[in-house]
Amino acid sequence: MSKPNKNRPKKPEHRSRAAEEIHKSIQGLVRSLLQLRGSEAMGGLPDEIEVNLRFPIHLSQNIHKNSRAFARSLVQQVEALRIEGETELYGHRSGHAHCYWCHQPSCEHSTPEDGHSIFSGWSPTGIPVWKNITTFLLSEEPELLDHLHGDQLKPMAVVVSGDALLGDVLQEYIEGTTFAHPVGCLLAGGFPLLRGDREMDHLAITAMLLETMTARGIPKYRWNFISTPPAPLHLPTMLGQEENTPLARWISAIRSMLIGAQEAIESRAREGKRMPLKESRKLVLSVMNEAQSLLGTLQRRHDRRTRHADMRVADPDRPTSAASSDVLASKRGDTLVDRRESTIIVRGPHGRIHVFTRNGIHVTSVRYSPEAILNRIQRRRWTPIEDHDFMTFKEEIMRRWNAPGSAQDKEESS
Ligand SMILES: [Zn+2]
Repeated sequence: MSKPNKNRPKKPEHRSRAAEEIHKSIQGLVRSLLQLRGSEAMGGLPDEIEVNLRFPIHLSQNIHKNSRAFARSLVQQVEALRIEGETELYGHRSGHAHCYWCHQPSCEHSTPEDGHSIFSGWSPTGIPVWKNITTFLLSEEPELLDHLHGDQLKPMAVVVSGDALLGDVLQEYIEGTTFAHPVGCLLAGGFPLLRGDREMDHLAITAMLLETMTARGIPKYRWNFISTPPAPLHLPTMLGQEENTPLARWISAIRSMLIGAQEAIESRAREGKRMPLKESRKLVLSVMNEAQSLLGTLQRRHDRRTRHADMRVADPDRPTSAASSDVLASKRGDTLVDRRESTIIVRGPHGRIHVFTRNGIHVTSVRYSPEAILNRIQRRRWTPIEDHDFMTFKEEIMRRWNAPGSAQDKEESS
């Protein structure tokens, strides 16, 4: 805004009521778009914002394309403002893990590269670290591997505390940041996914529980759901369109559970009996544990027999105990490649299936029905192994079994 020039005689200012009405309408539209679907973006924005618009105008006719381009540009700017406002308010950007290294709510490190990756914490310099869920389970929760590699996909989740997620980060990378505090994460996986080619895949998702403080010092808790489903799928669209998938049902349930806990915290504050921070955190941690067991509970209804990992390990009939003898006795044709999981499959007698990583680490052993085996071969999810891969796999297996702890003794030349 420039001030009127004092040297020139002041002309009476021309006012256009119509133009003022247009400005008022756009102002109202921007406000309502920012509040759309309960968004709190306005709370994180300054009172005065600027929207820059181009008005292509045709003098002799109405060109609809121009109107559409105008609307698109306005909506895009409001969307950018919404993200800015929410990021400021929440201390994170929805769908991204904030990065202490780049000091950004979203950057090249903030999302997993594929639908099988989960968040495994921040690196010493504060970069989000993503891990393949099978790799993660192999080292942390091997008894859950059957949920992904068994006959059927069974959704499951692991709870990781915020202390564990931040445990490696050097203090200097966290100090002075305004990111929301991660209370913990649910690392969930095994959600069935129907892809375009009709082949079932599974999706892993990270549900991060974040804490911010209101100006009055009351903690506010929110979920941040992070996942990269295979293109063209997109997590928010999937959750909006398919209400009946196990994933959508679980997300909706755990959202409500957290809203319930948040209401309890806020109503206590309204009554003047504010919950100590320790108690609030305990409350939301119990929500995380409940969210985890919710997947187990749903599962138990379908599959009571094979539920308890402990029982299965003790079971002498469990296929794992046959893994070594089956692999040693296996023929070339019994060894297959799982193209979806990038694992090696060894078929044993009586429907026993042994799953290995390509470098010979035993993932799990399970019993498959003949139909399930046939189905995977017919759909070409399991394909014959190449000669070279077969040789390498056998060598790796022998090396691991024959010389435990002295793997480096054997020099390989190829
Ligand atoms: Zn980064």
